[in-house]
Amino acid sequence: MAKRKDTVERICTIAELSSMFEESHSLREIRGESPRKRGGTQGLYCGRSVSPGVAHGPVSILDSHGRGGERLEVPAGTGGDTVAFHDALRRSESQLVVLQRETEELLGHEVSMIFSAQQLLLRDEQIEGEMLRRIESGHDAAVAIVDVLNGCIDQFAASDTEMLREKVHDLKDLGHRMLQNLSADSDDAQADYRGHIVISADLLPSDVVKLVAQHAGGLVMVGGGVNSHASILARALGIPLVIIENDEVLEIAEESDVLLDGVEGRLLVVPDTDYIESYRALLDADGSRPEEPARHATTSTRDGTRVTLLANINLMGEVALAWQNGAEGIGLYRSEFPFLIRNDFPSEEEQFLIYRSILDASGDRDVVFRTLDIGADKFLPYVPAWNEANPALGLRSIRFSLKNRPVFAQQLRAMLRAGEGRPLKIMFPLVSSLEELRAAKVCVAESIGDLQDERTACNCAPDLGIMIESPAAVELADALARESDFFSIGTNDLVQYLLAVDRTNEHVADLYIDHHPVVLRAIKKVLDAAQAASISVSVCGEMAANEKVLPVLVGMGLRSISIEPRSIGRVQAAIMRIDLTEAEPKAAKILQSNEIAATHALL
Ligand code: PEP
Ligand code: MG
Repeated sequence: MAKRKDTVERICTIAELSSMFEESHSLREIRGESPRKRGGTQGLYCGRSVSPGVAHGPVSILDSHGRGGERLEVPAGTGGDTVAFHDALRRSESQLVVLQRETEELLGHEVSMIFSAQQLLLRDEQIEGEMLRRIESGHDAAVAIVDVLNGCIDQFAASDTEMLREKVHDLKDLGHRMLQNLSADSDDAQADYRGHIVISADLLPSDVVKLVAQHAGGLVMVGGGVNSHASILARALGIPLVIIENDEVLEIAEESDVLLDGVEGRLLVVPDTDYIESYRALLDADGSRPEEPARHATTSTRDGTRVTLLANINLMGEVALAWQNGAEGIGLYRSEFPFLIRNDFPSEEEQFLIYRSILDASGDRDVVFRTLDIGADKFLPYVPAWNEANPALGLRSIRFSLKNRPVFAQQLRAMLRAGEGRPLKIMFPLVSSLEELRAAKVCVAESIGDLQDERTACNCAPDLGIMIESPAAVELADALARESDFFSIGTNDLVQYLLAVDRTNEHVADLYIDHHPVVLRAIKKVLDAAQAASISVSVCGEMAANEKVLPVLVGMGLRSISIEPRSIGRVQAAIMRIDLTEAEPKAAKILQSNEIAATHALL
């Protein structure tokens, strides 16, 4: 289970825990002995903490998205006749129904639909019929299930269509569930990733969502960036995630006992009982809310300057958490997540319902809807022929929307309809020229015109803003500010593009520096441009939750930030410690630095 970082710190220091571990285990990793498949050997892997929390449980290795087309195997000891097969079918179906309902409550309707795909496969008459035929002709139920599903997996894996290849994942999930349900002693709780520490070479945002929905205890990713979208999502959903670069972790035997320390970024394989006990208080503590809500309704610096705290929302299920934790509005709704976790484009109506529920759940608070930001590390499996050598520099964000007008129009129409009768803010990601901004605005005007012609109720005068995420947008900030209603500085991408450092690449993670002088100067330039044009501006990248950098940002004039809901209490406390009479001169001094070391020293 995920546990809170502050609890970790209260109970014992990680250094103490580490030394206990090192005393009780010989560090086989250092001696070159790794805890491999050959047995549950003890060992320690060190990596980077991405999402805090502590989890203890058996390992599940997730092959790289099932996209390699790996097949199911008949587990030892399973067999089964027709009766057992029907029983496994029934149990699998009722588990999927429960899973779908629980997921809807926890993460929202758009996520729960993942499990309807598996229900459809389960009810497929051809698949079920073929399994039954094989059982009736003398095969064990387990063999029939594996053979039939492997046949489908082979077919789907060989498909040219990514969307069909993606189905391999669903087929394998379903196969594991049915096989588990065939064994007489299986209980329903075992039929998914419940309590497992899932290790994968790579995780997509949709994998993170599915694993959280299936109650995984923690995640380990081999490589990747702490600011990748999978990482952002893991933090937002409160599941511990550690990035470990050593790919030997993929060879840890399935079901090995491990302890994941998401605070220090460690994975302990087959830990001693004493060691597990030292974490007992954390493991037993209620980790379902690993965050402190804001203590005050509004946020001000020590000297009384107001700073607005908004929430970044990826899934509808996070909206309630944002209000519980004291967000004043939604500064960034990443509208692409419902697109990412499905196998086809959501219809205008489906999108309308999602946007409408978000607005309904927000009362009269501000909500900023960002239009589709896909591409780079967020690709849609159902968009054909989308192979790019440099996806981060490719057809992503507003570029994708402008080249796929029907998709863009459908989304805009859904947003405009949802915003009928209330203030509406629409934001375009990764704008890098005035022409792009103008083209996007024309699309909005066209959608409004179409809706009016059809006499469909809609918001005809939304505020239109842009994300500042590219060096080009920084350079053009003055001109863009004159034609935008608001700015939001997306530092996750801005840092990547200003410094030419891939935000998802672990090999250059040490070069991804948010306090680089160029980044700070760029932010200052954008703040000044927004102020000159009298438009609002906020920062919505992960940098805004960095307590060290916050005084500089506020000292430079930033008065609105948007962060994940779980960080709101912590960030509010940090802002309330800032005194502008100190922060402003400090920011001015830092802006004079040319060296990273100098800005670092001043922070
Ligand atoms: C950003 O780039 O800072 C941002 C908030 O957008 P995303 O992380 O979704 O790219
Ligand atoms: Mg971005």
